[in-house]
Amino acid sequence: MEIAAATRRNLELSRTMTGERRGSLLATIDRTVTGGGARLLAQHLAAPLTDPAAIDRRLDMVGFLAEEERLRDDVRAALAQSPDLERALTRLSLGRGGPRDLAAIRDGLAAAMRLRALLGAAGGGFLPQGLSEIAQDLGHHGELVGTLGQALTVDLPLLARDGGFILRGYSPQLDELTTLRDEGKRLIASLQGRYVNMTGISTLKIKHNNVIGYHIEVTAQHADKLHSGKHRDLFMHRQTMANAVRFGTVELSELERKISEARDRALAVEGDLFAELLALTLARGDEVALAAGALARLDVAAGLAALAVERRYNRPKVDDTLAFDIKGGRHPVVEAALEDAQAGTFVANDCRLADEQRLWLLTGPNMAGKSTFLRQNALIAVLAQMGSFVPAERAHIGVVDRLVSRVGAADDLARGRSTFMVEMVETASILNQSGPRALVILDEIGRGTATFDGLSIAWACVEHLHDANRCRGLFATHYHELTLLARKLGHLACFAMRIKEWRGEVVFLHEVGAGAADRSYGIHVARL
Ligand code: ATP
Repeated sequence: MEIAAATRRNLELSRTMTGERRGSLLATIDRTVTGGGARLLAQHLAAPLTDPAAIDRRLDMVGFLAEEERLRDDVRAALAQSPDLERALTRLSLGRGGPRDLAAIRDGLAAAMRLRALLGAAGGGFLPQGLSEIAQDLGHHGELVGTLGQALTVDLPLLARDGGFILRGYSPQLDELTTLRDEGKRLIASLQGRYVNMTGISTLKIKHNNVIGYHIEVTAQHADKLHSGKHRDLFMHRQTMANAVRFGTVELSELERKISEARDRALAVEGDLFAELLALTLARGDEVALAAGALARLDVAAGLAALAVERRYNRPKVDDTLAFDIKGGRHPVVEAALEDAQAGTFVANDCRLADEQRLWLLTGPNMAGKSTFLRQNALIAVLAQMGSFVPAERAHIGVVDRLVSRVGAADDLARGRSTFMVEMVETASILNQSGPRALVILDEIGRGTATFDGLSIAWACVEHLHDANRCRGLFATHYHELTLLARKLGHLACFAMRIKEWRGEVVFLHEVGAGAADRSYGIHVARL
């Protein structure tokens, strides 16, 4: 579905007009639990499909998972524990990965195998095509998961060069070197005891720092005992601090050399082992990427299924007709906001664009809900064609190949275009480019100029949409004169937002009904 940048902004698909994710359609429908799933959902929302068969394949998956509550919960729980396989694989293949990425591969693939088993056991052997493809792509990874499981420790360093990530028992050579290293450390500890006995300085300590390595430290008052006296040949002065003096011995440096040699060799061996594990993983890179893709698709489908159940969305029917028939449609974001704030319930509305009413002219007071109604129908089309259930009792949509909406005004002063100019440029592109499969949403065209100029422009737009574009469309306006056009244009129908006047106040019912509004109650709303 082709959606122009201005329309994406207007409809607040993945960002609101103020640039936030919160309050966008994406944030409202996102129930994914993995990074890969969240990214794929955003991609699907950005590029709804136009092939009814492909849309149905996605809807089949959502429908199946919406029905199978137990499976859905199990799948989402297993997904929630799987790390970001795709990111880890990318980092490893770019040579930027570390031990933690290998662990992510291990855990991600283990989750993939668990999920494969879950899907295999579900549906009595019958799965929708999309899900059996996912099961297949999740793949078999027992060997790699097994090897990584035997190789990696629990507490992993970020970088391979820091070492200490290979489990004991995995490599005899490495084990030998670490034993040597640890043995050296133990010998140093016992050396401290010997020096304490020898000198009688109970506070003598053997310490280590990164600048001078291992050294013997005593307080300043004890330093003389080591400088002179019977031990002066044994202890070599190294450093004098404010309250402490540091010494070395030949034995200590010998031990230190052994330890550091063993450590360097252990690090080198670990480096080699990392390279081996990396090669093993990258050799199966294609399978890992397939599994990552399958996890993301499963997450998207299960998330949309959870959303459908939670918010009472239903399966739309999408086909090759020119139908647009929404029964009891709701605005997904406004409805969610009302529900979350417990600020009342959203009033559902029908929208049937066909034949004698292919183009709707919507009038009604300010604040009555015109913009909300316009947008909700565009959003329902987007949701349906991305393969999601929709906030409506029923929806039958003949594939929309191009969605355009002009809602509200936006300046583009930086590019030298005034508010009105922006509106006219966008309107021109809508009128020049929309064919019979397009869905066009126009909200208050022709506002930013003199009243009769604006009315004339709006009038001409309606006629052009009706006669030349012949597309399905919703046109909201405060120019009540336009309703006269319905008598002349065979496919134009008038609808209005219902309100009640009660003791001189306007009560908004948020209901759309046939007919035209006679006034806008602008002054009432201004006072409000
Ligand atoms: P204007 O002509 O001033 O632009 P409008 O008719 O386009 O106004 P909206 O902006 O669509 O009005 O709606 C105003 C407010 O009414 C919304 O922010 C929303 O909170 C509420 N509202 C709209 N439609 C509904 C509905 N169907 N159910 C419940 N509340 C609604």
